[in-house]
Amino acid sequence: MPTLPTIKISRRGATRLKDGHVWVYRSDIVSDGDAAPGAHVRVTDDRGKALGSALYSSSSQIAIRMISHEAVDDLAALLRQRIHSAIVYRERFVRDTDAYRVIFSEADSLPGLIVDRYNDLLSMQIVTQAMDAEPVRQVILDELAKLNAVSIAERVDPKIRELEQLPAKSSSLLRGEKSSTIFTLNGVRFHFDALEGQKTGAFLDQRENYAAAASYARGEALDAFCYQGGFALHLAQACTSVTAVDSSRPALEVADRNAALNQREIEWIEANAFDLLRDYSSSGRQFDTIVLDPPAFAKSKRALDTALRGYKELNLRALKMLRPGGILVTCSCSYHVGPTEFLNIVAEAARDAHRELRLLENRTQSQDHPILPNIPETAYLKCLIFHVSN
Ligand code: SAH
Repeated sequence: MPTLPTIKISRRGATRLKDGHVWVYRSDIVSDGDAAPGAHVRVTDDRGKALGSALYSSSSQIAIRMISHEAVDDLAALLRQRIHSAIVYRERFVRDTDAYRVIFSEADSLPGLIVDRYNDLLSMQIVTQAMDAEPVRQVILDELAKLNAVSIAERVDPKIRELEQLPAKSSSLLRGEKSSTIFTLNGVRFHFDALEGQKTGAFLDQRENYAAAASYARGEALDAFCYQGGFALHLAQACTSVTAVDSSRPALEVADRNAALNQREIEWIEANAFDLLRDYSSSGRQFDTIVLDPPAFAKSKRALDTALRGYKELNLRALKMLRPGGILVTCSCSYHVGPTEFLNIVAEAARDAHRELRLLENRTQSQDHPILPNIPETAYLKCLIFHVSN
């Protein structure tokens, strides 16, 4: 067994690991032991005490992602076991769907690897040097073969590959020839194309929230930031009419095909949701149910103030348009906006709009996107469901 490179980290880095986190930033690297990009490494503190094994990135600000607090000799065996555990976890907790996240990076102790299942297709995304190493890719593909999917696609985010200094490539099929399918969430059907669309196809993290939203929805509904219609199509099960808005034409084209697939009539509007809400409120338009699911406004801590103003404005406009007895489903997928902070923004918006709210549900991402209490970044999605009392 060749000896692994050893990376020495600062006391601050070591404390972070002792607190249960798995990341070490580049600024906490004392010496990198000449580790190659993507190497499997040993980690020690500044006095040489062993802290475990990790995957190294030569370019990311997150230089080290721990994979074990023990010394790992056989990386392939460890990865196989982790992939197996991730699959078993989903078998136990995922219900009412044939599409779900099979592997979610750090949340499954497989940092840098994301795999989604869409019915008979698997979609894989690799975001670190270590997971992109050829022997590691082979192990991943061998294990995924056990899920008996017809095809396995690799989705590439060019920006991430560039940041990780990985050679550019495009999304492609790695196994099989089928690249599109139909998947079903809570009985609602959706088109999926493994080689198109943003993110890894659909927003699977909202799956349980779709069902929750539909269980309270009524009357005339508005889905703001609808993408391919995830909420809108669920709302249509309970509402008399559904209007849905997004600024992306390609997303709305898929949304329209999804509506046809489910034999639903939905009014899709291509617009800036902020402008549309403003127009609707000035023309006195009202709704009984409104869903707000904007993109992450705060991608970094620095963007926080602007993000908070964005959330406040959206929620304020929506609250003014809801009839008494209405339902507000409001989401934030910005990790940097914490759950309490988000709740406070909506509370503030309600005060300004002179509306009284009752919190029906304080929700988060679906269980196939696990939350690890010691890795706060794994908890990012907030979905609050309110009753508007007056
Ligand atoms: N609710 C969706 C996911 C929304 S993701 C679902 O459950 O599937 C955020 C969406 O906001 C994207 O589809 C993006 O195209 C859209 N978007 C971003 N900025 C926008 C804006 N200013 N107005 C309208 N839509 C916008």
